[in-house]
Amino acid sequence: PNAGTDYDLVVIGAGPGGYVAAIRAAQLGLKVACVEKRTTLGGTCLNVGCIPSKALLYASEQYEAAHKYFAGLGVMVNDVQLDLAKMHSHKQSVIDSNVSGIEFLFKKNKITWLKGSAVIKAPGKILVDGQEVTARSIVIATGSQSTSLPGIEVDEKQIITSTGALQLETVPKHMVVIGGGVIGVELGSVWHRLGARVTIVEYFDRLLPGFDKEVSTNFAKILQKQGMVLKLAHKVEQVRKQDGSVQITISNVAGDKTETLEADVVLVSVGRRPVTQGLGLEAVGVALDDRGRVQTNAQFQTNVSGIYAIGDVIAGPMLAHKAEEEGVAVAEILAGQKPHVDYDLIPGVVYTEPEIAMVGKTEETLKADGIEYSVGKFPFSANGRARAMGKTEGFVKILADKRTNKVLGVHLMGPHCSEMIAEAALAMAFGASAEDIALTCHAHPTLSESMKEAALATQKKTIHM
Ligand code: FAD
Repeated sequence: PNAGTDYDLVVIGAGPGGYVAAIRAAQLGLKVACVEKRTTLGGTCLNVGCIPSKALLYASEQYEAAHKYFAGLGVMVNDVQLDLAKMHSHKQSVIDSNVSGIEFLFKKNKITWLKGSAVIKAPGKILVDGQEVTARSIVIATGSQSTSLPGIEVDEKQIITSTGALQLETVPKHMVVIGGGVIGVELGSVWHRLGARVTIVEYFDRLLPGFDKEVSTNFAKILQKQGMVLKLAHKVEQVRKQDGSVQITISNVAGDKTETLEADVVLVSVGRRPVTQGLGLEAVGVALDDRGRVQTNAQFQTNVSGIYAIGDVIAGPMLAHKAEEEGVAVAEILAGQKPHVDYDLIPGVVYTEPEIAMVGKTEETLKADGIEYSVGKFPFSANGRARAMGKTEGFVKILADKRTNKVLGVHLMGPHCSEMIAEAALAMAFGASAEDIALTCHAHPTLSESMKEAALATQKKTIHM
């Protein structure tokens, strides 16, 4: 459609931000190419992130269940064994089918995959492995990569990032996890279930910063009950490799106690940084913000005309579904539409056992904002389905505006909460009150009845408590 340039749109990076932007733009009639330097499409998420981690989380959960829970259900399995190589090949086949699915979608939508590394030469001009491509618009969707701490050098064997943690060929005897965020607790859980002793060192006095404090405090107790060792409010002083093991010196934040842990593997999960290097951004004059992310306005435009950015490389939570929402939105903007991403309603999920999920405000943020709220809580221990499953840990907590009963935040910990959170997000997207949820008939016996009961509890009307 656009004579004079090769493409209407070139997207750099084929992660959930980039590939979704490419597909939506193609659906809207744009001539689209997507540059990806990996040998497969799908970005961090499909290759070394969400998908492989969930494959291992699921498989390791089944392994642990066979060991620890089946007998309680009257299912006797003798001699449960781990075939780690098989577990990895399950994970790999999940990755393979997902990444080839994106390749299929590219073909279906007539999107050209330009294989190689992109460097932006000027607005509308990109070099892909030295070859010039021109485009009316460019979307930067280069994602993020793991960071480390000063003095800690990752070798992906003994000192590993999440990528190494998805590929360990043997179960470590002792894994020390530096950083108790989502990735740390998820991958720590995988190896703990498979038999490793796991110690999590976290600088803050709680796990999962950003999640509701009551949830993360309860969750920490559950992990300890499972056998994980938590060193909260501790900082890492030094990490040294020695004779096949790693010595990790930590001290409490107050600084009056120091100890040295010995591990065979150290997982560094202290955060991720945006990928902006080597893209030519400086030469073109694309501005970064104070945290090194590409700076954008509400329309995902950078300060350079015709260059946009989405996903992990810009501000906001580093989550696949956030990147996807932005991918759709930027494509629609380029096609002349006026889409909207509601950043207040991006769910956050931790795929541990029990699962944790949230959407909207936490009690801490409501207090900080001076908003009066009522709390409706319902424990899974009072839910028939959860009892039938033998999974009674955790609760549903709904925070509703004190005056209007409008739902402001929902916090879940328990079985299948990753799936249950969608109901809360949908209710909030429609501006529901807790009473709207409570007046909706929920099937019995389901875990989601706890959502209804918690909604009733915001007005002290719960039936089963
Ligand atoms: P990315 O997925 O990082 O993709 C960027 C792509 O750009 C990469 O493939 C890269 O090769 C390519 N690229 C970069 N520079 C260039 C260049 N110059 N030329 C060509 N190509 C380039 N999020 C969730 O929502 N749920 C989860 O359960 C979850 N689990 C995770 C587990 C782990 C272990 C990790 C590491 C992350 C997890 N995430 C999860 C986060 C999620 O993976 C990211 O938020 C998401 O992938 C971001 O998408 P993106 O498109 O912005 O970037």
